[in-house]
Amino acid sequence: VLSVAQNFDFFYFVQQWPGSYCDTKQSCCYPTTGKPAADFGIHGLWPNYNDGTYPSNCDPNNLYDQSKISDLISRMQQDWPTLACPSNSGTTFWSHEWDKHGTCSESNLDQHGYFKATLNLKSKFDLLQILQNGGINPDGGSYSLSSIKTTISNAIGYTPWIECNSDADGNNQLYQIYLCVDKSGSNLIKCPIFPNGQCASTIRFPSF
Ligand code: 5GP
Ligand code: 5GP
Ligand code: 5GP
Repeated sequence: VLSVAQNFDFFYFVQQWPGSYCDTKQSCCYPTTGKPAADFGIHGLWPNYNDGTYPSNCDPNNLYDQSKISDLISRMQQDWPTLACPSNSGTTFWSHEWDKHGTCSESNLDQHGYFKATLNLKSKFDLLQILQNGGINPDGGSYSLSSIKTTISNAIGYTPWIECNSDADGNNQLYQIYLCVDKSGSNLIKCPIFPNGQCASTIRFPSF
């Protein structure tokens, strides 16, 4: 039997702030199902190696099949909305994430298990609520990177990674939050390695 299953060490669970995707020079398109909630949305659950490299597109024979997750679609529309143009229902984003990343964890999670685990992580760790409890609100204000990281780590027990991007005026802002998850897809762990990339020491948290 030819096996294409890859080993990996852990997952990055990545969430995006829609306000920071949409206020860029490139702008965004809302999904055909309507404007997403003003909440973090899932970007993906990405298998990774401890040295920072990662596998991708691991199994061309197990491509995205939406009929396998029909019971999850309303949760996907709510918690995993696409903001890319042209406007579409989300299928393009979800299939990209499964084909590129999900197939590399298929030894642990099948397609249904992968999407369900990702949705459950989002429900379990409410990053917007955590930030707001710490006085960090998506109001266009500026916050220190360290206060954002400390507020999250105090609430969940692990230090997150923050990815920044620039709005149309060039202001550095909070774009994505990375948490590390064990291979089962259900428990947070201390990140074995952090991604690369720069944030200013003070960053904006735009509204959406
Ligand atoms: P970017 O270059 O915009 O940071 O990332 C482009 C894409 O590369 C991401 O959407 C993701 O699919 C993949 N990627 C970037 N960094 C990582 C990483 O550290 N781990 C994994 N697994 N994928 C990554
Ligand atoms: P990655 O390769 O980084 O995991 O995913 C990025 C790909 O997903 C790009 O091809 C991008 O066009 C597509 N995509 C669709 N919807 C979204 C979205 O809402 N956010 C991001 N970051 N990428 C999206
Ligand atoms: P420190 O170890 O003092 O917290 O940070 C060292 C350097 O890494 C600083 O330049 C800081 O801006 C950067 N850094 C620390 N945490 C993060 C993060 O979560 N995201 C990004 N993009 N940079 C960070």
